[in-house]
Amino acid sequence: MDIILTGDRPTGKLHLGHYVGSLKRRVEMQNSGKYKDIYIMIADAQALTDNADDINKVRSNIAEVALDYLACGLNPQKSTIYIQSQIPELCELSFYYMNLVTVSRLQRNPTVKTEIQMRNFHQSIPVGFFTYPISQAADITAFKANLVPVGEDQLPMIEQTREIVRSFNTLYQEVLVEPKAVLPENSTCSRLPGLDGAAKMSKSLGNCIYLSDSADEIKKKIQSMFTDPTHLRVQDPGHTENNPVFIYLDAFCRDEHFAAFLPAYQNLDELKAHYQRGGLGDMVVKRFLNEILQNELRPIRERREELAQDLGEIFQMLKIGSEKAQKVAAQTLDEVKTAMGINYFRHGFGD
Ligand code: ATP
Ligand code: MG
Repeated sequence: MDIILTGDRPTGKLHLGHYVGSLKRRVEMQNSGKYKDIYIMIADAQALTDNADDINKVRSNIAEVALDYLACGLNPQKSTIYIQSQIPELCELSFYYMNLVTVSRLQRNPTVKTEIQMRNFHQSIPVGFFTYPISQAADITAFKANLVPVGEDQLPMIEQTREIVRSFNTLYQEVLVEPKAVLPENSTCSRLPGLDGAAKMSKSLGNCIYLSDSADEIKKKIQSMFTDPTHLRVQDPGHTENNPVFIYLDAFCRDEHFAAFLPAYQNLDELKAHYQRGGLGDMVVKRFLNEILQNELRPIRERREELAQDLGEIFQMLKIGSEKAQKVAAQTLDEVKTAMGINYFRHGFGD
């Protein structure tokens, strides 16, 4: 039976990109009851690889991410939710995996390359940041996860993990499991762009609608969204591709939204055709998007506000989850060390 692992960095509250890229899918998988185990990791140690000077940001966002999880429907009775740094076995696994990866292989990782540029690291790349794809391999393999629901930017990490697993299993013994990425069915959701039209909505770029944003904040953010710069007057023909307002509609809009909020059209194709012909203003489209997102985010925000009343309970849930996850990782580490022949005091030095 399948084992799922996935996680998020506590570098900020979770946003719409997380929601459509991974979170929604996790909740569906969890509620299907089809999976053996589901592990959801708050990747605080990974977040520190580019935030070593801002421990408080990472610390304080652990509870925020946990609240976002529960508000979206993750359920600690069904999914193990835990904090990465509380599982020291992950560091030990990473340390052995580091010997199975070359520096040039890490340098070729396209996501890490983009992130290094985004963060203006130039020549001062922290070693921990540079090697985080290896620690991610530890995160996944420690739980023998075979399915990892993620956004598109994570594909190079899953590939790196698969390579490490193959090297390990060939060099030592067949202990580790090769994981597969599970991308959202709707390709728009694999990489939701930012409000500013940047390639990715990202906490680190501040171009996000957060799951916890108030109704007013959501409305303001949508009103100021980037659209088609050539669509100056209402009667001008407009472009729907590379237009974040339409990309968000691709991700969130269903036919029933037209009946409820914009009955002059039957579906998104009709709306797009009108925009492309000319005669449809950005404000009408933005108002429609606002109705859809308000409708989707309202119940999440309300549930989040309720849960935030008792942070003690949230931390207790994380403690129980971390203890459970630690036991599983310890078992894998033991198997890994035995396979490598370094479990000296268990098996002796003889062979
Ligand atoms: P940071 O800027 O700190 O890296 P982030 O916004 O990229 O934060 P992560 O915690 O790195 O968020 O990503 C968690 C998960 O959410 C990953 O599976 C990632 O692929 C997915 N994800 C993040 N941003 C998007 C997005 N804009 N569209 C779709 N999926 C996304
Ligand atoms: Mg990221």
